[in-house]
Amino acid sequence: MWKPTQALMDTITHYSQFPATGVSLRQMVQFGRNPSAGTLFKASQFLMKCHLFRELPIGICSRLRKLLAFQNPFFPEKYNGSPIPLETGLANPDIEPGAYRSSPWLTATNGTGNGRKAQRRYYATVDDGVRWPPEIVDYNKRFTKILQNIKHRHDPVVTTMAMGINEYKRKRQRMQIDNSIQSFLDRFYMSRIGIRMLIGQHVALNSAPEQEDYVGIICTKTNVRELAQEAIENARFVCEDYYGLFDAPKVQLVCKPDLHFMYVPGHLSHMLFETLKNSLRAVVETHGSDSEEFPPVKLIVAEGKEDITIKISDEGGGIPRSAIPLVWTYMYTTVESTPPIDPDFNKSDFKAPMAGFGYGLPISRLYARYFGGDLKLISMEGYGTDVYLHLNRLSSSSEPLQ
Ligand code: ADP
Ligand code: MG
Repeated sequence: MWKPTQALMDTITHYSQFPATGVSLRQMVQFGRNPSAGTLFKASQFLMKCHLFRELPIGICSRLRKLLAFQNPFFPEKYNGSPIPLETGLANPDIEPGAYRSSPWLTATNGTGNGRKAQRRYYATVDDGVRWPPEIVDYNKRFTKILQNIKHRHDPVVTTMAMGINEYKRKRQRMQIDNSIQSFLDRFYMSRIGIRMLIGQHVALNSAPEQEDYVGIICTKTNVRELAQEAIENARFVCEDYYGLFDAPKVQLVCKPDLHFMYVPGHLSHMLFETLKNSLRAVVETHGSDSEEFPPVKLIVAEGKEDITIKISDEGGGIPRSAIPLVWTYMYTTVESTPPIDPDFNKSDFKAPMAGFGYGLPISRLYARYFGGDLKLISMEGYGTDVYLHLNRLSSSSEPLQ
């Protein structure tokens, strides 16, 4: 059985003691744009200013430590809910090399070893991720390649973790998660979004050909209407496939054709796709998949000085008021059986599930909050639901790292 070396454990202990620092969307665009003698210089400048050298190891190591045992909310009785002091780090049997199998996280997911799979990815990343090449300019190509590999390796983490949580739910016969697990997962995924943003930005600035209106993965003129249209098509396609429908409920789009702002298109697509799938599912299940006609879902985009707000309204029967707080938790779904997904899936044959992990809303809200926005939901039980997606167009708020 593979074991982390003492050197690896020391590295993790070292980096996970530092607090992470935030960076705003506007700062990232400005760094990427600074006049420079070519892409390499631009990249190294971005790196220096964004502290990627410092931030990436800190982010990765902090999360690995949390996964291992520290501040682990899954088994509070073992730790009385109190964090283990850092000085005792390596003395803690749960993090000691060789003894890591007894980590409470692993016990929680004992069986298929999802917890261990997630951990192994982080170990591997610490191993090649924190020893940055000393000379950025010379090694930049290799460095970018390493980053690309890291990002790719971590693609399945959300799915693996979701499966681990499901197992915890089943084994402990819990229908809900408590606040400490919820906030643990919120912090975990928020920090993951942040790190992937930084890596994505570096890789795009260094390896992708320069695209007009793009600085890395940030698009300075993100066209809301075009992205919304694409998300509608994708969500309707998944819905038709899932329910065997000839024609999914229609989505009416009200949006100025030239409405654009600075944002990460990938994040916006994710939020629109998830909320639209929820609305389509609610409409189909309320009116019956054999229904001749469905009431349309409405997607309305408003442009304010401070926010761009997107409202998605459906007549899908709404949500009982008592269930509203639950929809934001990571285990809540009204789908009876979770769709089977291999956590080591190959991205190219990955089919987005219609619903079933209970991750759509909480993760979308993290994306919205990451750049100072928010996601809200108002339901009229017996009629339908309105989801409000607020996106901060000033883009000046720092990413909310813990
Ligand atoms: P999933 O879709 O995988 O169940 P989500 O986080 O996207 O997970 O949503 C959680 C739950 O919230 C859904 O299972 C559903 O019961 C409820 N929900 C979300 N959006 C709507 C909606 N527009 N209308 C009715 N119920 C909804
Ligand atoms: Mg969903």
